Amino acid sequence: MVPTAENQGHFDVVIVGGGPGGYAAALYGAAAGLQIALVEKDKVGGTCLHRGCIPAKELLETAHVYRTVTDSAKYGVVSSEPKLDFSTTMARKQEVIDQLFNGLSGLIKSRKITSYAGTGRLGAGRSVTVTGADGSSAEISGDVVILASGSVPRTIPGFEVDGRVVLTSDEVFELTELPARVAVIGGGAIGCEFASMMSDLGSEVTVLEALPQILPGVDKDVVSVILRSFKRRAIDVRTGVRVLGHTPGHTGTTIQLEGSDDLEVDAVIVSVGRKPLSDNLGLDGTGVTVDERGFVVVDQLCRTAAEGVFAIGDLVATPGLAHVGYAEAILVIKQLLGEPAVPVDYGKVAWCIYCHPEVAFVGLSEQAAVDAGYDVVTSKHRWMGNSRALIVGETEGLVKVIAEKGPDGAAGRILGVHMAGPWVTEQLGQGYLAVNWEATVPEVAHLIQPHPSLSENFGETVLSLTGRSLNS
Ligand code: NAD
Repeated sequence: MVPTAENQGHFDVVIVGGGPGGYAAALYGAAAGLQIALVEKDKVGGTCLHRGCIPAKELLETAHVYRTVTDSAKYGVVSSEPKLDFSTTMARKQEVIDQLFNGLSGLIKSRKITSYAGTGRLGAGRSVTVTGADGSSAEISGDVVILASGSVPRTIPGFEVDGRVVLTSDEVFELTELPARVAVIGGGAIGCEFASMMSDLGSEVTVLEALPQILPGVDKDVVSVILRSFKRRAIDVRTGVRVLGHTPGHTGTTIQLEGSDDLEVDAVIVSVGRKPLSDNLGLDGTGVTVDERGFVVVDQLCRTAAEGVFAIGDLVATPGLAHVGYAEAILVIKQLLGEPAVPVDYGKVAWCIYCHPEVAFVGLSEQAAVDAGYDVVTSKHRWMGNSRALIVGETEGLVKVIAEKGPDGAAGRILGVHMAGPWVTEQLGQGYLAVNWEATVPEVAHLIQPHPSLSENFGETVLSLTGRSLNS
Protein backbone atom coordinates (compact mmCIF):
# COMPACT_ATOMS: atom_id res chain seq x y z
CA MET A 1 0.00 0.00 0.00
CA VAL A 2 1.29 3.46 -0.86
CA PRO A 3 1.61 5.59 2.28
CA THR A 4 -0.94 8.43 1.85
CA ALA A 5 -3.22 10.45 4.11
CA GLU A 6 -6.09 8.11 3.14
CA ASN A 7 -4.09 5.09 4.23
CA GLN A 8 -3.49 6.08 7.86
CA GLY A 9 -4.64 3.75 10.58
CA HIS A 10 -4.25 2.12 13.93
CA PHE A 11 -3.25 -1.55 14.19
CA ASP A 12 -2.65 -4.10 16.91
CA VAL A 13 0.95 -4.32 15.73
CA VAL A 14 3.08 -2.15 13.46
CA ILE A 15 6.23 -3.87 12.22
CA VAL A 16 9.09 -1.90 10.69
CA GLY A 17 11.10 -4.11 8.35
CA GLY A 18 9.98 -7.10 6.30
CA GLY A 19 12.97 -9.45 6.63
CA PRO A 20 12.82 -12.81 8.41
CA GLY A 21 12.21 -11.17 11.81
CA GLY A 22 9.55 -8.77 10.54
CA TYR A 23 7.69 -11.09 8.19
CA ALA A 24 7.71 -13.91 10.77
CA ALA A 25 6.16 -11.55 13.34
CA ALA A 26 3.57 -10.47 10.74
CA LEU A 27 2.65 -14.01 9.65
CA TYR A 28 2.59 -15.46 13.17
CA GLY A 29 0.62 -12.50 14.55
CA ALA A 30 -1.87 -12.52 11.69
CA ALA A 31 -2.38 -16.28 12.12
CA ALA A 32 -3.41 -15.51 15.70
CA GLY A 33 -5.94 -12.90 14.51
CA LEU A 34 -3.98 -9.72 15.15
CA GLN A 35 -4.35 -6.72 12.83
CA ILE A 36 -0.89 -6.14 11.45
CA ALA A 37 0.80 -3.37 9.46
CA LEU A 38 4.11 -4.31 7.85
CA VAL A 39 6.35 -1.47 6.67
CA GLU A 40 9.05 -2.36 4.13
CA LYS A 41 11.09 0.06 2.01
CA ASP A 42 12.35 -2.53 -0.46
CA LYS A 43 11.04 -6.08 -0.86
CA VAL A 44 9.67 -8.38 1.80
CA GLY A 45 12.11 -11.18 2.48
CA GLY A 46 14.93 -8.82 3.41
CA THR A 47 18.63 -9.61 3.29
CA CYS A 48 18.09 -13.34 3.82
CA LEU A 49 15.94 -13.82 0.74
CA HIS A 50 17.36 -11.22 -1.64
CA ARG A 51 21.02 -10.70 -0.68
CA GLY A 52 21.95 -13.34 1.86
CA CYS A 53 21.12 -16.88 2.90
CA ILE A 54 18.99 -17.90 -0.08
CA PRO A 55 21.17 -16.71 -2.99
CA ALA A 56 24.31 -17.89 -1.16
CA LYS A 57 22.92 -21.38 -0.64
CA GLU A 58 21.63 -21.48 -4.21
CA LEU A 59 25.08 -20.64 -5.61
CA LEU A 60 26.68 -23.15 -3.25
CA GLU A 61 24.33 -25.73 -4.73
CA THR A 62 25.63 -24.83 -8.18
CA ALA A 63 29.13 -25.46 -6.80
CA HIS A 64 27.91 -28.84 -5.53
CA VAL A 65 26.54 -29.76 -8.96
CA TYR A 66 29.80 -28.67 -10.55
CA ARG A 67 31.84 -30.86 -8.19
CA THR A 68 29.50 -33.78 -8.79
CA VAL A 69 29.80 -33.52 -12.56
CA THR A 70 33.59 -33.11 -12.32
CA ASP A 71 33.76 -36.33 -10.26
CA SER A 72 31.11 -38.29 -12.12
CA ALA A 73 33.54 -40.58 -13.99
CA LYS A 74 34.38 -42.39 -10.75
CA TYR A 75 30.76 -43.59 -10.66
CA GLY A 76 31.06 -44.74 -14.25
CA VAL A 77 29.07 -41.76 -15.45
CA VAL A 78 31.34 -40.36 -18.12
CA SER A 79 30.64 -36.85 -19.30
CA SER A 80 32.68 -34.17 -20.98
CA GLU A 81 34.47 -31.63 -18.80
CA PRO A 82 31.92 -29.33 -17.13
CA LYS A 83 31.80 -25.70 -18.19
CA LEU A 84 30.18 -22.93 -16.19
CA ASP A 85 27.53 -20.82 -17.89
CA PHE A 86 27.51 -18.07 -15.27
CA SER A 87 24.50 -16.22 -16.69
CA THR A 88 22.37 -19.38 -16.33
CA THR A 89 23.77 -19.85 -12.82
CA MET A 90 22.72 -16.34 -11.84
CA ALA A 91 19.37 -16.65 -13.60
CA ARG A 92 18.53 -19.82 -11.64
CA LYS A 93 19.53 -18.10 -8.41
CA GLN A 94 17.09 -15.30 -9.29
CA GLU A 95 14.32 -17.75 -10.18
CA VAL A 96 14.59 -19.36 -6.75
CA ILE A 97 14.47 -15.93 -5.08
CA ASP A 98 11.51 -14.83 -7.21
CA GLN A 99 9.55 -17.97 -6.47
CA LEU A 100 10.09 -17.62 -2.73
CA PHE A 101 9.32 -13.88 -2.92
CA ASN A 102 6.03 -14.54 -4.72
CA GLY A 103 5.12 -17.19 -2.16
CA LEU A 104 5.88 -14.88 0.73
CA SER A 105 4.01 -11.94 -0.85
CA GLY A 106 1.01 -14.21 -1.41
CA LEU A 107 1.04 -15.39 2.21
CA ILE A 108 1.19 -11.80 3.46
CA LYS A 109 -1.81 -10.87 1.30
CA SER A 110 -3.82 -13.95 2.19
CA ARG A 111 -3.34 -13.30 5.92
CA LYS A 112 -4.76 -9.77 5.42
CA ILE A 113 -1.59 -8.08 6.60
CA THR A 114 -1.55 -4.42 5.57
CA SER A 115 1.71 -3.77 3.74
CA TYR A 116 3.15 -0.27 3.50
CA ALA A 117 5.79 0.41 0.85
CA GLY A 118 8.14 2.91 2.41
CA THR A 119 10.60 3.74 5.17
CA GLY A 120 9.25 3.65 8.72
CA ARG A 121 10.36 6.04 11.44
CA LEU A 122 9.27 5.63 15.02
CA GLY A 123 7.57 8.60 16.64
CA ALA A 124 6.00 9.32 20.00
CA GLY A 125 3.18 7.16 21.36
CA ARG A 126 4.01 4.11 19.22
CA SER A 127 3.34 6.01 16.02
CA VAL A 128 5.28 5.27 12.85
CA THR A 129 5.67 7.66 9.92
CA VAL A 130 5.96 5.81 6.63
CA THR A 131 7.57 7.69 3.76
CA GLY A 132 7.31 6.28 0.25
CA ALA A 133 9.95 6.52 -2.46
CA ASP A 134 7.98 9.39 -4.05
CA GLY A 135 7.88 11.36 -0.79
CA SER A 136 4.26 10.50 0.05
CA SER A 137 3.69 9.65 3.67
CA ALA A 138 1.28 8.15 6.16
CA GLU A 139 1.09 8.20 9.93
CA ILE A 140 0.18 4.86 11.42
CA SER A 141 0.22 3.58 14.99
CA GLY A 142 0.04 0.35 16.90
CA ASP A 143 -0.73 -0.97 20.35
CA VAL A 144 2.73 -2.35 19.87
CA VAL A 145 5.59 -1.56 17.49
CA ILE A 146 8.18 -4.15 16.49
CA LEU A 147 11.44 -2.81 15.05
CA ALA A 148 13.02 -5.29 12.65
CA SER A 149 15.05 -3.17 10.22
CA GLY A 150 17.96 -5.64 9.98
CA SER A 151 21.58 -5.00 9.12
CA VAL A 152 23.97 -4.15 6.28
CA PRO A 153 27.51 -5.40 5.54
CA ARG A 154 30.29 -3.75 7.53
CA THR A 155 33.11 -2.28 5.50
CA ILE A 156 36.71 -1.47 6.41
CA PRO A 157 38.73 1.69 5.85
CA GLY A 158 40.69 1.67 2.61
CA PHE A 159 38.22 -0.69 0.92
CA GLU A 160 35.36 1.49 -0.23
CA VAL A 161 32.77 -0.66 -1.94
CA ASP A 162 32.58 0.23 -5.64
CA GLY A 163 30.64 -2.77 -6.92
CA ARG A 164 33.39 -3.35 -9.49
CA VAL A 165 36.47 -4.65 -7.65
CA VAL A 166 35.48 -4.15 -4.03
CA LEU A 167 32.33 -6.03 -3.21
CA THR A 168 30.32 -7.07 -0.18
CA SER A 169 27.83 -9.92 -0.15
CA ASP A 170 25.28 -7.47 -1.62
CA GLU A 171 27.30 -7.04 -4.81
CA VAL A 172 28.50 -10.63 -5.21
CA PHE A 173 24.95 -11.70 -6.00
CA GLU A 174 24.84 -9.17 -8.85
CA LEU A 175 28.05 -10.30 -10.59
CA THR A 176 27.79 -10.88 -14.31
CA GLU A 177 30.97 -12.91 -14.53
CA LEU A 178 33.02 -14.94 -12.11
CA PRO A 179 36.26 -13.13 -11.15
CA ALA A 180 39.35 -15.22 -11.94
CA ARG A 181 41.22 -14.22 -8.75
CA VAL A 182 39.39 -13.28 -5.57
CA ALA A 183 40.52 -12.09 -2.14
CA VAL A 184 38.01 -12.67 0.63
CA ILE A 185 38.65 -10.38 3.60
CA GLY A 186 37.23 -12.06 6.72
CA GLY A 187 37.10 -15.81 7.25
CA GLY A 188 33.77 -15.97 9.07
CA ALA A 189 30.61 -17.69 7.88
CA ILE A 190 30.11 -15.46 4.83
CA GLY A 191 33.80 -15.48 3.90
CA CYS A 192 34.09 -19.27 4.05
CA GLU A 193 30.87 -19.79 2.07
CA PHE A 194 32.03 -17.44 -0.71
CA ALA A 195 35.58 -18.85 -0.70
CA SER A 196 34.27 -22.39 -1.04
CA MET A 197 31.69 -21.55 -3.70
CA MET A 198 33.98 -19.43 -5.88
CA SER A 199 36.86 -21.89 -5.67
CA ASP A 200 34.59 -24.77 -6.69
CA LEU A 201 33.33 -22.73 -9.64
CA GLY A 202 36.89 -22.02 -10.82
CA SER A 203 38.17 -18.82 -9.15
CA GLU A 204 41.58 -18.67 -7.50
CA VAL A 205 40.73 -17.70 -3.90
CA THR A 206 42.75 -16.18 -1.05
CA VAL A 207 41.15 -15.74 2.38
CA LEU A 208 42.60 -12.95 4.51
CA GLU A 209 41.60 -13.30 8.16
CA ALA A 210 42.79 -10.92 10.90
CA LEU A 211 42.47 -13.40 13.77
CA PRO A 212 44.74 -16.44 14.26
CA GLN A 213 41.89 -18.75 13.18
CA ILE A 214 39.13 -18.69 10.56
CA LEU A 215 35.58 -19.36 11.72
CA PRO A 216 36.04 -17.80 15.16
CA GLY A 217 34.08 -19.58 17.88
CA VAL A 218 33.82 -22.84 15.92
CA ASP A 219 35.26 -26.00 17.54
CA LYS A 220 38.93 -26.41 16.56
CA ASP A 221 38.46 -29.96 15.23
CA VAL A 222 35.78 -28.69 12.86
CA VAL A 223 37.95 -25.76 11.78
CA SER A 224 40.79 -28.22 11.02
CA VAL A 225 38.50 -30.12 8.66
CA ILE A 226 37.68 -26.95 6.73
CA LEU A 227 41.32 -25.86 6.62
CA ARG A 228 42.41 -29.26 5.27
CA SER A 229 39.69 -29.26 2.64
CA PHE A 230 40.40 -25.66 1.59
CA LYS A 231 44.11 -26.49 1.33
CA ARG A 232 43.41 -29.56 -0.81
CA ARG A 233 41.33 -27.36 -3.12
CA ALA A 234 44.13 -24.74 -3.30
CA ILE A 235 42.21 -22.08 -1.38
CA ASP A 236 44.96 -19.97 0.17
CA VAL A 237 43.93 -19.24 3.77
CA ARG A 238 46.08 -16.65 5.50
CA THR A 239 45.37 -15.94 9.17
CA GLY A 240 46.69 -13.21 11.43
CA VAL A 241 47.01 -10.83 8.49
CA ARG A 242 46.42 -7.11 8.36
CA VAL A 243 45.14 -5.61 5.13
CA LEU A 244 46.39 -2.06 4.69
CA GLY A 245 44.61 -0.92 1.55
CA HIS A 246 44.52 -1.51 -2.18
CA THR A 247 45.45 0.17 -5.44
CA PRO A 248 42.94 -0.41 -8.24
CA GLY A 249 44.41 -1.15 -11.65
CA HIS A 250 42.89 -1.30 -15.10
CA THR A 251 40.89 -4.44 -14.35
CA GLY A 252 41.57 -5.71 -10.85
CA THR A 253 43.42 -4.35 -7.86
CA THR A 254 46.56 -4.85 -5.77
CA ILE A 255 46.10 -5.39 -2.03
CA GLN A 256 48.78 -4.25 0.38
CA LEU A 257 49.33 -6.55 3.35
CA GLU A 258 51.34 -5.78 6.45
CA GLY A 259 54.61 -7.71 6.45
CA SER A 260 54.06 -9.65 3.25
CA ASP A 261 54.00 -9.26 -0.51
CA ASP A 262 51.19 -7.45 -2.29
CA LEU A 263 48.36 -9.57 -3.59
CA GLU A 264 46.93 -9.02 -7.08
CA VAL A 265 43.31 -9.99 -7.57
CA ASP A 266 40.37 -9.25 -9.84
CA ALA A 267 37.90 -8.78 -7.00
CA VAL A 268 37.88 -8.27 -3.24
CA ILE A 269 34.98 -9.48 -1.17
CA VAL A 270 34.72 -7.75 2.19
CA SER A 271 32.99 -10.07 4.66
CA VAL A 272 33.97 -8.67 8.05
CA GLY A 273 30.57 -8.83 9.74
CA ARG A 274 27.35 -6.84 9.54
CA LYS A 275 26.13 -3.72 11.32
CA PRO A 276 22.59 -2.98 12.50
CA LEU A 277 20.39 -0.53 10.59
CA SER A 278 19.28 1.65 13.48
CA ASP A 279 20.37 5.09 12.20
CA ASN A 280 17.28 6.14 10.32
CA LEU A 281 14.63 4.64 12.54
CA GLY A 282 13.85 7.94 14.27
CA LEU A 283 14.77 6.55 17.68
CA ASP A 284 15.92 9.86 19.22
CA GLY A 285 13.48 10.99 21.87
CA THR A 286 11.43 7.78 21.77
CA GLY A 287 13.08 6.19 24.80
CA VAL A 288 14.52 3.34 22.68
CA THR A 289 18.23 3.02 23.46
CA VAL A 290 21.06 1.97 21.16
CA ASP A 291 24.49 0.64 22.19
CA GLU A 292 27.84 1.96 20.94
CA ARG A 293 27.77 -0.46 17.97
CA GLY A 294 24.29 0.65 16.89
CA PHE A 295 22.34 -2.36 18.18
CA VAL A 296 18.97 -1.56 19.76
CA VAL A 297 19.16 -2.55 23.42
CA VAL A 298 16.57 -5.10 24.47
CA ASP A 299 15.94 -7.38 27.44
CA GLN A 300 15.58 -11.15 27.13
CA LEU A 301 11.97 -10.71 25.96
CA CYS A 302 13.05 -8.36 23.14
CA ARG A 303 11.53 -5.33 24.92
CA THR A 304 13.26 -2.01 24.31
CA ALA A 305 13.38 0.69 26.97
CA ALA A 306 10.23 2.28 25.42
CA GLU A 307 6.92 0.82 26.59
CA GLY A 308 5.29 -1.29 23.87
CA VAL A 309 8.25 -1.12 21.48
CA PHE A 310 10.11 -4.35 20.75
CA ALA A 311 13.17 -5.02 18.58
CA ILE A 312 14.19 -8.29 16.95
CA GLY A 313 16.51 -9.84 14.36
CA ASP A 314 19.82 -8.37 13.20
CA LEU A 315 18.89 -5.03 14.78
CA VAL A 316 19.64 -6.47 18.22
CA ALA A 317 22.92 -7.96 19.48
CA THR A 318 21.87 -11.61 19.26
CA PRO A 319 23.22 -14.16 16.73
CA GLY A 320 22.69 -12.73 13.23
CA LEU A 321 20.73 -15.69 11.93
CA ALA A 322 17.36 -15.70 10.16
CA HIS A 323 16.04 -18.48 12.39
CA VAL A 324 16.95 -16.47 15.49
CA GLY A 325 14.88 -13.62 14.00
CA TYR A 326 11.97 -16.07 13.56
CA ALA A 327 12.27 -17.21 17.19
CA GLU A 328 12.37 -13.63 18.47
CA ALA A 329 9.32 -12.76 16.36
CA ILE A 330 7.32 -15.62 17.87
CA LEU A 331 8.53 -14.67 21.36
CA VAL A 332 7.20 -11.13 20.93
CA ILE A 333 3.84 -12.15 19.45
CA LYS A 334 3.26 -14.68 22.25
CA GLN A 335 3.74 -11.89 24.79
CA LEU A 336 1.16 -9.75 22.98
CA LEU A 337 -1.27 -12.65 23.09
CA GLY A 338 -0.68 -13.08 26.83
CA GLU A 339 0.77 -16.56 26.29
CA PRO A 340 3.77 -17.93 28.21
CA ALA A 341 6.88 -16.65 26.45
CA VAL A 342 10.19 -18.42 27.01
CA PRO A 343 13.29 -16.34 26.17
CA VAL A 344 15.46 -17.62 23.34
CA ASP A 345 18.46 -19.60 24.67
CA TYR A 346 21.06 -17.98 22.44
CA GLY A 347 23.79 -20.35 23.61
CA LYS A 348 21.90 -23.28 22.15
CA VAL A 349 20.81 -22.09 18.71
CA ALA A 350 21.68 -24.08 15.60
CA TRP A 351 24.58 -22.74 13.55
CA CYS A 352 24.91 -23.90 9.96
CA ILE A 353 27.60 -22.81 7.52
CA TYR A 354 27.06 -24.09 4.00
CA CYS A 355 30.61 -24.10 2.69
CA HIS A 356 32.03 -27.41 1.45
CA PRO A 357 32.34 -29.45 3.60
CA GLU A 358 29.36 -28.10 5.52
CA VAL A 359 29.64 -27.04 9.15
CA ALA A 360 26.85 -27.39 11.70
CA PHE A 361 26.91 -27.07 15.43
CA VAL A 362 24.89 -26.44 18.54
CA GLY A 363 25.89 -25.81 22.13
CA LEU A 364 29.36 -25.55 23.61
CA SER A 365 32.56 -26.31 21.72
CA GLU A 366 35.09 -28.38 23.68
CA GLN A 367 37.10 -25.25 24.54
CA ALA A 368 34.02 -23.27 25.54
CA ALA A 369 32.85 -26.14 27.78
CA VAL A 370 36.25 -26.31 29.48
CA ASP A 371 36.33 -22.52 29.84
CA ALA A 372 32.87 -22.67 31.43
CA GLY A 373 34.28 -25.01 34.08
CA TYR A 374 32.76 -28.29 32.90
CA ASP A 375 34.59 -31.55 33.35
CA VAL A 376 34.10 -32.79 29.80
CA VAL A 377 34.35 -35.99 27.87
CA THR A 378 34.32 -35.97 24.08
CA SER A 379 34.02 -38.41 21.23
CA LYS A 380 34.78 -37.92 17.53
CA HIS A 381 33.79 -40.09 14.60
CA ARG A 382 35.03 -39.47 11.10
CA TRP A 383 32.83 -39.98 8.05
CA MET A 384 35.33 -42.41 6.58
CA GLY A 385 33.72 -45.26 8.53
CA ASN A 386 30.14 -44.35 7.63
CA SER A 387 28.65 -46.43 4.82
CA ARG A 388 26.34 -43.74 3.46
CA ALA A 389 29.16 -41.18 3.39
CA LEU A 390 31.24 -43.61 1.32
CA ILE A 391 28.27 -44.16 -1.01
CA VAL A 392 27.68 -40.43 -1.34
CA GLY A 393 31.41 -40.02 -1.93
CA GLU A 394 31.93 -37.41 0.76
CA THR A 395 34.10 -38.65 3.60
CA GLU A 396 35.79 -35.45 4.74
CA GLY A 397 35.00 -34.38 8.28
CA LEU A 398 33.65 -35.67 11.53
CA VAL A 399 30.97 -35.60 14.18
CA LYS A 400 32.09 -34.50 17.63
CA VAL A 401 29.97 -34.74 20.75
CA ILE A 402 30.91 -32.98 23.95
CA ALA A 403 29.33 -34.23 27.17
CA GLU A 404 29.56 -33.43 30.84
CA LYS A 405 31.40 -36.04 32.88
CA GLY A 406 29.26 -37.24 35.76
CA PRO A 407 30.55 -37.89 39.32
CA ASP A 408 30.96 -41.58 38.41
CA GLY A 409 33.17 -40.60 35.46
CA ALA A 410 30.52 -41.62 32.93
CA ALA A 411 29.35 -39.28 30.16
CA GLY A 412 26.19 -37.44 31.20
CA ARG A 413 24.44 -34.40 29.73
CA ILE A 414 25.23 -33.55 26.10
CA LEU A 415 26.66 -30.02 26.00
CA GLY A 416 27.55 -29.65 22.34
CA VAL A 417 27.32 -31.34 18.97
CA HIS A 418 29.74 -30.14 16.30
CA MET A 419 29.91 -31.49 12.79
CA ALA A 420 31.67 -30.99 9.48
CA GLY A 421 30.86 -33.11 6.47
CA PRO A 422 28.12 -34.24 4.10
CA TRP A 423 24.71 -32.65 4.65
CA VAL A 424 25.48 -31.89 8.29
CA THR A 425 23.33 -28.75 8.10
CA GLU A 426 20.39 -31.10 7.53
CA GLN A 427 21.56 -33.51 10.21
CA LEU A 428 22.00 -31.07 13.07
CA GLY A 429 18.36 -31.51 14.16
CA GLN A 430 19.16 -34.47 16.38
CA GLY A 431 21.99 -32.63 18.08
CA TYR A 432 19.80 -29.56 18.43
CA LEU A 433 17.11 -31.55 20.22
CA ALA A 434 19.65 -33.37 22.40
CA VAL A 435 21.35 -30.17 23.57
CA ASN A 436 18.15 -28.17 24.03
CA TRP A 437 16.31 -31.01 25.75
CA GLU A 438 19.37 -31.42 27.96
CA ALA A 439 19.42 -35.08 27.04
CA THR A 440 22.10 -37.36 28.47
CA VAL A 441 24.42 -39.69 26.58
CA PRO A 442 22.64 -42.89 27.79
CA GLU A 443 19.24 -41.47 26.73
CA VAL A 444 20.39 -40.63 23.20
CA ALA A 445 22.52 -43.79 22.88
CA HIS A 446 19.32 -45.79 23.43
CA LEU A 447 17.76 -44.34 20.27
CA ILE A 448 18.07 -46.18 16.96
CA GLN A 449 19.44 -44.62 13.77
CA PRO A 450 18.41 -45.89 10.35
CA HIS A 451 21.00 -47.93 8.46
CA PRO A 452 22.59 -47.00 6.18
CA SER A 453 22.37 -43.30 6.89
CA LEU A 454 24.59 -40.34 7.54
CA SER A 455 22.79 -39.84 10.85
CA GLU A 456 24.31 -43.10 12.12
CA ASN A 457 27.53 -41.19 12.65
CA PHE A 458 25.89 -39.05 15.34
CA GLY A 459 24.40 -42.18 16.93
CA GLU A 460 27.80 -43.91 16.87
CA THR A 461 29.55 -40.90 18.37
CA VAL A 462 27.08 -40.79 21.24
CA LEU A 463 27.18 -44.59 21.67
CA SER A 464 30.96 -44.56 22.00
CA LEU A 465 30.61 -42.10 24.89
CA THR A 466 28.91 -44.91 26.85
CA GLY A 467 32.23 -46.76 26.71
CA ARG A 468 31.14 -49.24 24.05
CA SER A 469 30.51 -48.76 20.36
CA LEU A 470 29.94 -50.75 17.22
CA ASN A 471 32.37 -49.27 14.76
CA SER A 472 35.38 -47.95 16.59
P1 NAD B 1 31.51 -12.91 11.00
O1 NAD B 1 31.51 -12.01 12.17
O2 NAD B 1 30.99 -14.28 11.11
O3 NAD B 1 33.01 -13.05 10.44
C1 NAD B 1 33.78 -11.92 10.09
C2 NAD B 1 35.24 -12.31 10.06
O4 NAD B 1 35.98 -11.21 9.57
C3 NAD B 1 35.79 -12.66 11.43
O5 NAD B 1 36.49 -13.86 11.33
C4 NAD B 1 36.70 -11.48 11.73
O6 NAD B 1 37.79 -11.84 12.55
C5 NAD B 1 37.16 -11.08 10.35
N1 NAD B 1 37.61 -9.70 10.22
C6 NAD B 1 37.05 -8.59 10.75
N2 NAD B 1 37.75 -7.49 10.36
C7 NAD B 1 38.75 -7.93 9.56
C8 NAD B 1 39.79 -7.28 8.84
N3 NAD B 1 39.93 -5.94 8.85
N4 NAD B 1 40.64 -8.04 8.11
C9 NAD B 1 40.51 -9.38 8.07
N5 NAD B 1 39.56 -10.04 8.74
C10 NAD B 1 38.66 -9.32 9.46
O7 NAD B 1 30.78 -12.10 9.86
P2 NAD B 1 30.29 -12.55 8.42
O8 NAD B 1 30.92 -13.80 7.98
O9 NAD B 1 30.46 -11.31 7.58
O10 NAD B 1 28.77 -12.81 8.67
C11 NAD B 1 27.93 -11.74 9.11
C12 NAD B 1 26.72 -12.27 9.83
O11 NAD B 1 25.94 -13.07 8.98
C13 NAD B 1 27.08 -13.09 11.04
O12 NAD B 1 26.20 -12.73 12.06
C14 NAD B 1 26.84 -14.48 10.58
O13 NAD B 1 26.44 -15.32 11.65
C15 NAD B 1 25.71 -14.32 9.59
N6 NAD B 1 25.80 -15.36 8.58
C16 NAD B 1 25.58 -16.62 8.92
C17 NAD B 1 25.69 -17.60 7.96
C18 NAD B 1 25.46 -18.98 8.31
O14 NAD B 1 25.27 -19.26 9.48
N7 NAD B 1 25.48 -19.89 7.34
C19 NAD B 1 26.05 -17.30 6.67
C20 NAD B 1 26.28 -16.01 6.37
C21 NAD B 1 26.15 -15.05 7.34
